[in-house]
Amino acid sequence: MHQRKDKTQPAMESRLDEMIDYLEKKPKSFPGLIHADSQSKPRRSFAPRIPERETSLRNLTLKQSIRLTPAMSKLFSRMWKGKRMYNKPVYPTVEHASDGLFAELKQLAQSMGAVDMKFIRDIPQKQIFKEKSIPYRHALIFTVEMDNEPIQTAPSFDCFLEVNKGYGNLAAISNALSKHLRELGYSAYPSTALGGQMDYVALAEMAGLGAIGYHGLLLTPQAGARVRISTIFTNIDNFPVETDNPHLWVRDFCQYCRKCVRSCPASAILPEPQSNEHGDATCIDYTKCVPYFSANFGCAKCIQVCPFSTAGYEKIHKGFLKKKKNQTKVQETAQKS
Ligand code: SF4
Ligand code: SF4
Repeated sequence: MHQRKDKTQPAMESRLDEMIDYLEKKPKSFPGLIHADSQSKPRRSFAPRIPERETSLRNLTLKQSIRLTPAMSKLFSRMWKGKRMYNKPVYPTVEHASDGLFAELKQLAQSMGAVDMKFIRDIPQKQIFKEKSIPYRHALIFTVEMDNEPIQTAPSFDCFLEVNKGYGNLAAISNALSKHLRELGYSAYPSTALGGQMDYVALAEMAGLGAIGYHGLLLTPQAGARVRISTIFTNIDNFPVETDNPHLWVRDFCQYCRKCVRSCPASAILPEPQSNEHGDATCIDYTKCVPYFSANFGCAKCIQVCPFSTAGYEKIHKGFLKKKKNQTKVQETAQKS
């Protein structure tokens, strides 16, 4: 019998929240979990804040559904595989990484499409999202690139597909590296590619993979904002750690630029940072971003227009240094006269 759709059924994106929560749930007996602390923020929900009938995922053409289904199946089967790696705790037989292991892992990740990888030791508990937990305080953190061509069509179905592909690549790399580390006697668990137990952007900046731009996304030297981020938790604590982040100059560049503010179709990027409900400074008004995002294939206009995504990091850096130098000269001349 044909069943009428239950109008009280939550939107697809709300069900996505539930599914990710399920994928991130650890067995009760899991040893040594590190939990979020009292200052931790909740992860932002995928719930669309608009009627489900207005969301892009509810209005796909047949052709789009046919293209999206295998990509989504691939992503979720990889995330499911990652969850299964938590079924049994791993008891490592080796504690310290041998010389060359980090380079070996980075090479493996890059052979599967990762752009860059760093190590982060002692993840601050407040970076773990509220009610989430992680198996170790240490993690490999890496980025994958999203191709510029589809990103330049944002907001569009092709761009959405590219973002989805990025998440799928993250999951495949996390699973492969975790498996490899386990085979060598270490302990390792993949984090969740989509969603995630921690603030990946903040951790990526801490690890030195890039710097956070005004739009709140990671800006990287290799692909600007066209990246997705994930991690692999491990018992290893002696991989090399970056003590200095050479990319923080981009914050000054953002002061001049503000292209994302002018280009956001929902006017969701604030001209000046404001304090949010958690007392943190934010540049995004999510009450405006989320409805537009849900109705327009995940939007990504802020990724598309960011000069770091197109012009290239080195070119922007050179221009920025030149501008700074000229400004200093002008100031010195003014002081002398
Ligand atoms: S568009 Fe400009 S202001 Fe916005 S994040 Fe990119 S560089 Fe910064
Ligand atoms: S995703 Fe779109 S709506 Fe949201 S902040 Fe970026 S440009 Fe604005």
